Amino acid sequence: MTRALWFLIKVAIVVGIAVWLADRPGTVNINWQGYVVETSFGVAVLITAAVLAFAVFLYRVVRGIIRAPRTLGRYSRSRRRERGYKALTRGMVAVAAGDAATARKMARKADGLLNEPPLTMLLSAQAAQLQGDDRAAKEYFTAMLDRPETAFLGLRGLLTQSLKAGDRVEALQLARRAQSLQPNTPWLLGTLYDLEARSGDWAAAEGTLQQAVQAGAISADLGRRHRATLLIERSFEAERRGRSDAALSHAQAAHDLVPGFVPAAARVARLLAAAGKLRPAAKAVERAWRINPHPDLADAYRDVLANYDPLTRVKLTDKLRVAAPNNAESHIALAQVSLAVQLWGEARTHLNKALELQPSRRLYRLLAELEREERQDEEAARAWLAQAAAAPADPSWTCTACNAVSPTWGGLCGHCGAFDSLEWKAPTMTVSLMAPESTTTAITHQPSERPVGPAVPQSAT
Ligand SMILES: [Zn+2]
Repeated sequence: MTRALWFLIKVAIVVGIAVWLADRPGTVNINWQGYVVETSFGVAVLITAAVLAFAVFLYRVVRGIIRAPRTLGRYSRSRRRERGYKALTRGMVAVAAGDAATARKMARKADGLLNEPPLTMLLSAQAAQLQGDDRAAKEYFTAMLDRPETAFLGLRGLLTQSLKAGDRVEALQLARRAQSLQPNTPWLLGTLYDLEARSGDWAAAEGTLQQAVQAGAISADLGRRHRATLLIERSFEAERRGRSDAALSHAQAAHDLVPGFVPAAARVARLLAAAGKLRPAAKAVERAWRINPHPDLADAYRDVLANYDPLTRVKLTDKLRVAAPNNAESHIALAQVSLAVQLWGEARTHLNKALELQPSRRLYRLLAELEREERQDEEAARAWLAQAAAAPADPSWTCTACNAVSPTWGGLCGHCGAFDSLEWKAPTMTVSLMAPESTTTAITHQPSERPVGPAVPQSAT
């Protein structure tokens, strides 16, 4: 619309000029070197315009010819880039799809077409990795370290490779180098913290853990728990070096950080008891017991009370029952201390109470022990043991990374070396398939008030 209007305006102007010239006739005379040209003014204007237009056309043609090589070069370069980026894109798609052959082909093509080493090197490395050519991938990643813009990516690639190969010493070095380039990268902080903790560098791990929590790589709750574990390990380390004050202060800090964390409470209780502070030691266990009644805490409590006379031990252990009255562990703790001092009636009462609350393999074994110790009743003891064999496995310290079961808690899994991976839970493989008919028959002869039925679900704490 605008173009048509503009055209009409131009036509109007030309017609206007033509009319204006026609209204004002006149002649133009040119006399040059004996040549005489005489024409009307209108024609002269027309010829001048035509000559000017031709000159402009000629200028453009000549300029085009002179510039042709440069233009052609630019065109072919832009075509190359276009093809290069297309190859790069197809390569990245192939990497995402796991198509190693295409990825490598496209990486080579992109590398030949594009002068962009940061992009093509990463694709080449990823393609090599996909093909399982770790050596080639390592070469690409290492080459990436030479350029500041690709150094971090190269370190990330090498770090992933050494983690995969299980070389934690090299992984730790690489992670530290990467962190010096990008100090607040969440995934890197999480990895670095884990590597430092696995290597037993507790103090460094504590610092990195704090940064990882701040960067959002680890939740605040999990961060607290990990920190408590680090503090317990620092406490063990201080003890080995003969620094009992530091050992106690680290354990106390862990206990204050997560009061229901069983290893922290047990550790601080034992260290306080060793320092002769029996009352605060018992208090630490009672505090944790209120949150998380646990066999390890009962053991620690028994150790704390070891030097009291038998009746006082039983009386003091009742504090655990008061702290968690409806928990089977409270009654088991009381039964165990009663068994130890041969208060049979007391032991039986609490074992039966625990049986009502939560039957377990450990409980059946204690009942068998009671039958043997008190009444020398082998038959009843065997019946309880048969029931123990048929019951689901009791919870134990189980590694969440490798499922290995550990008899005692530790900051590092003794099997796979994972840090803070031990959880108190029943093993994942159940023994429910092991209950044959004969066992069930044996169970029906139990001198138990409880009806015998299928395995009672356990509550893992
Ligand atoms: Zn493990």
